[in-house]
This record gives sequence, C-alpha cells and structure tokens, in this order.
Amino acid sequence: MGEVSRRDLLKVAGLGVTVGALQGASLAYAVRTQNRILPPPKGKRVVIVGGGWAGVTAAKYLRKEEPGSEVILIEERKIFMSCPISNVWLAGLVDMEFLMHDFHTPASKYGYTFLNTRATGVDRDKRRVYTAEGYVEYDYLILAPGIEYNYEAWFGNDRKLSRICSTSFPSAFIPGAEHVALKRKIENFEEGTFVLTVPPPPHRCPPAPYERAAMIAHVFKRNEVAGKLIVLDPKDGIRPKGPGFMSAYEELYSDLIEYVPEAKIKEVDPVKKVVRTTAGDFRFDDANLNPPHRAGGIAREAGLVNPKTGWCDVDPLTLQSKEDPRIFVAGDASSVKGFPKSGDMAHNHAQRMVVRALIALMRGRDPKSAVEAPTNTCYSMVNGDPKEAIVINVLYALDREKGAPVKKKVRVENTRSKQLARATFEWAKALYRDMFS
Ligand SMILES: Cc1cc2nc3c(=O)[nH]c(=O)nc-3n(C[C@H](O)[C@H](O)[C@H](O)COP(=O)(O)OP(=O)(O)OC[C@H]3O[C@@H](n4cnc5c(N)ncnc54)[C@H](O)[C@@H]3O)c2cc1C
Repeated sequence: MGEVSRRDLLKVAGLGVTVGALQGASLAYAVRTQNRILPPPKGKRVVIVGGGWAGVTAAKYLRKEEPGSEVILIEERKIFMSCPISNVWLAGLVDMEFLMHDFHTPASKYGYTFLNTRATGVDRDKRRVYTAEGYVEYDYLILAPGIEYNYEAWFGNDRKLSRICSTSFPSAFIPGAEHVALKRKIENFEEGTFVLTVPPPPHRCPPAPYERAAMIAHVFKRNEVAGKLIVLDPKDGIRPKGPGFMSAYEELYSDLIEYVPEAKIKEVDPVKKVVRTTAGDFRFDDANLNPPHRAGGIAREAGLVNPKTGWCDVDPLTLQSKEDPRIFVAGDASSVKGFPKSGDMAHNHAQRMVVRALIALMRGRDPKSAVEAPTNTCYSMVNGDPKEAIVINVLYALDREKGAPVKKKVRVENTRSKQLARATFEWAKALYRDMFS
C-alpha cells in the first residue's frame, strides 16, 4: 500500500473501516473501525488510553472522587506487568507473579469500563478514540500510553535492521516477552563480553539501566561467568544516585562491570555485533541494546507530540496538552522539566494532578488551583546477596506564579542497605495494592 496522508483517509468499501496515517508510522495504528461501540457521552465521560501506572491510577481516582463520572479505560494488554522490580526479577530475586496484576478487579471495584483493545487513532474535532473494534466518544481524554522505542534514530528507515536488533537484542524497557528473552540471555551467558547501552536522556526511569547492570552482574557472579558486562553511557556520569551505583560496581562487581561514560552511540550493527561510540568501538557476544525512547505512538497519531523532542508538551501544573485542553497526558509520554519518567511519578501525575484538574474542569472551577504537588521516590536494588538498595526521594512544590512545579527537597541515600531493600518491596506492594485491589 502506498503512503496515505492523515487527511486523506481511505474508506475501505463496504467494511466500514478507514485506513489512516500510514506515513512512516506503524500499521498498528492503521485500522479505524467506523462503528460506535458505546452510546454517546453525557458530559462526564473520560476515556483513558493506556492502562499502565498513570492510566490505572487515573481510572480509580476519577471514579472514587467524582462518582458521577463515566470512565472508560482502553488497554491493549491482557495482563499488567510491572517494569519496576523487573530488574530484581531478572536476577531471580522475586517471581513473575510479584510483577503481574489483572485489570478486572479494579475496574469492577471502582465501576469503570475496561476495553481490552488497541486505540488506533484520535479524532480531536469529533472527540473520538478509534479502536480496532469501533470508536468511543469522549468529553475528556487522558492519554497515558507510556513510551515506544525509537529505532529509527539508529537505523533510519532500515526496518529489517531494526527488526534484527529488536529481536536479537531486545530492550525490555516495555514490559512483556522481551523481559523473558533478556532473562534467558543473562542466565545462559557463560563467557565473553555482554554490552548494555544506556538510552540518551530523557528516557524511561533514569536509574533503571544502572540497576539492571548491577542485577546482571549479580547473576554473572552467581553463575561464575568468565566475562564482563560493559555499560555504555552517553552521559558523563551516572545520574541519579551515581555514588551509590559506582560504589556497588567497584565494591561488589569490580571484575565484572566496566562502566564507560561519554559513549554516545554512532552506529549499532546487530549483525556484526558491534556498537560504535564516541568512546570507542565495542564488540560483543551478547547484549541488551536500548534505543532512544519517545512518547507512545497513539500520542503522535493524536497530533500531540512535539516532533523536536518526541514527547508531548503539557501545562506543567495540570498536564493538559498544549495542543488541546480537553486532553491530558499523564505518565512517561508527557514532558515536564524536572519530572523523571517513573512509575511513582506517573502515579502522582494521575492522582494528584490530572484527576484533580479534570474534576475541577468538570465542575467549572479553575483546574490549576486544584492540583496538588507531586513527589517521586525511586529505589534501586544494587546487591542481590544480601539484597541491598539505594534510594532517591524528591518533594516538589507548586510555584503558582511561575505556573510550574519546582523541586523543594531532594533526599538521596547512596549507602546501600538491607533496610532499603525491604523498603523497595514495601513501596512496590503499596502501589500495586493502590492500583489493583
Ligand atoms: C527496567 C525498568 C525498571 C523500572 N523501575 C522503576 C522503579 O523502580 N520505580 C519507578 O517508579 N519506575 C520504574 N520504572 C519506570 C516505570 O515503569 C514507568 O515510568 C511507568 O511504567 C510509566 O507509566 P505510564 O503509565 O506512563 O506507562 P506504562 O506503565 O508503560 O503504561 C502504558 C500503557 O499503555 C498501553 N498502551 C500504549 N499504547 C496503547 C494503545 N494505542 N492502545 C491501548 N493501550 C495502549 C500499554 O500497553 C501500557 O500498558 C522502571 C522502568 C523500567 C523499564
């Protein structure tokens, strides 16, 4: 099929289906079935696209705090798998069940509709979200699609090479089978060089690549691997929690981890197994290759992504899209200075910012003054035996004059401890409980 512009949607005769926006985008967003699958909204319908950390939280708190609202959560996965704690799972320190949660329990408890399908497009004029099964109209829309990988930054339009890279060296920054593949790789690795590339900022979970490196090294140590893990970082040092990660690497895994700063990627060759960087060329036997990130594709389909950054510009207080005030962008897909892309932050976006602003809007009040300041807490496991972790905690304040959040207090604990490892699990359990039970 040739290229089709967004405006020139093709009607596929007789099927009631349109095919749209194929320009450079994936076919995954092409199908727009033309039948209404729910009756029209009555003024308080909020459609949420993406049942991750932000979306599930928003659905619950909207229903809880505005019982008159009608909430529809559109999520393409059948089961929720958590990226937080997935590095710990890679090292075999928790089982998969710890990470998995169902969408049905909270939907039934809080009384929202769970539509298990992919959103394929948004018509902002008609206020419709298209899915493969039909369209749903909204009064307000929350987009919380998380991230997608930007392999084009490495391979341009060479889709074959992208596919070889994503299949042979999966990133596992989006939850699912990639994590299972990565775990197999790590467990089966016996000798040689294993490379892990850190994506350029801003990326999902700034400390995650460094925690992953520590957990991979823990497995290599346990399995007595005759080799090393090379961590290629485009930055000039580890951030956040740099001293905590570096002391773990030096004290626990000095024979195993080689950390290379200022290694900006120049070329990735997944066939010859070499990564060329500004710090030199690195050949590998196996790898975890992590391309740059950008906002989930549905945000681009909705025309909300800033092409210069790859993320959605939003009001820093309410997280309303700068392109369309009826649309809120919560979680990793949005871009606010000083906010990291974390699950904790996505939960805060939803509960303290978006839901409050949206309810104020529905009630005809000022959304900005309804918003509460968020916090962000992020633990990282750096030792597997005994389990030890480090942590960063940031409290924000809302500068109403500037119309933006500012960091009020930052607390970093770089001394790894068992107590922080226990707190890591308690943090995760508390959030899973809040979102899923
Ligand atoms: C290895 C790793 C470790 C991490 N550790 C931590 C940690 O310790 N602490 C922490 O706070 N954060 C951590 N994070 C970050 C955290 O996972 C993300 O910041 C968080 O998931 C962001 O939430 P979100 O709701 O924006 O996106 P997600 O949780 O990814 O949810 C997005 C959802 O949208 C769905 N979706 C996307 N497009 C569509 C569509 N078109 N139609 C239907 N559904 C769609 C997806 O299937 C997905 O379920 C970690 C991340 C990684 C990769």
